[in-house]
Amino acid sequence: MATADVLKDTGYIQNDTELTGPFAAALAKGNLIVQKCNDCAALIMYPKYRCPACFSGSLGWEQVSGAGQLQTFTILRYGPPSTFDVEAPYGIGIVKLDEGPQLMCRLHPGPDGTWDHYVCNQRVSFAPADAAEIAERAAAWFTAA
Ligand SMILES: [Zn+2]
Repeated sequence: MATADVLKDTGYIQNDTELTGPFAAALAKGNLIVQKCNDCAALIMYPKYRCPACFSGSLGWEQVSGAGQLQTFTILRYGPPSTFDVEAPYGIGIVKLDEGPQLMCRLHPGPDGTWDHYVCNQRVSFAPADAAEIAERAAAWFTAA
């Protein structure tokens, strides 16, 4: 069984749900979007059925710049979830976008193949992975700005 099939069976891939499908579809096209409340204009990440600011159910999507600050990060070298162990080591982080919302992301390694150049609070920018990678695992990828 291919890794993607295992992930689908275990529910790891949620690229096609009503809630997260638009986010995954935008990532596959190289765009980063977040939800936007049609009533109070709050930007929302991760996707929700209701606006956490005004509880409106009228939510749309808005493309964001992809610029932000790396709040924290870690490099998973040992003990990742079993379906991710073929990718270890890999970097994940929390990015606070300039527009306000924050999200978990994957971090591209540097030219030396490591993540040694990352530090907390540094500027980062959205750097989409290729469509095949996004189809496998819908994640926003970032790199040092
Ligand atoms: Zn709202």
